[in-house]
Amino acid sequence: MVANPEVLLSQSPAAQGPIDAAARLQACGIRVTAQRLQIAQLLLTAPQHLSADQVAEALQRAGMRVSKATVYNTLNLLAAHGLVHQLSLDGQRSWYDSNVQAHYHFHDETSGALIDVALPEVQFSKLPTPPPGMEVAGIDMVIRLRPQA
Ligand SMILES: [Zn+2]
Repeated sequence: MVANPEVLLSQSPAAQGPIDAAARLQACGIRVTAQRLQIAQLLLTAPQHLSADQVAEALQRAGMRVSKATVYNTLNLLAAHGLVHQLSLDGQRSWYDSNVQAHYHFHDETSGALIDVALPEVQFSKLPTPPPGMEVAGIDMVIRLRPQA
């Protein structure tokens, strides 16, 4: 099992039941290997946010011997094909999010946990005008959390 199950405020396709990870890899044109399948199953069977280190630890606990490089390469491959969304919060560590629908996040700065925030929960009253010829393609937002003082 994966550490840190999180409360989710929105549903993703991964929450709708068991998925066939091999079929999802193949549908994206990704050649299925045992290691890729393990990593895809770990991430895609539930809505969650995992770092590469957490994926590597979970594989190790499951008795799989997978190198860090393979974990990183596979996560980047899944992200490049849109199966997971890659998030960078502090410029040092990436999180891989199995919810690929547009959403925002709470970030618990104490535990590091990410919690999904559905788009309708947030309203913007003013945005800057994009430069000429440009349009807003998307907005990333992380609401940082700490325990109440
Ligand atoms: Zn998320």
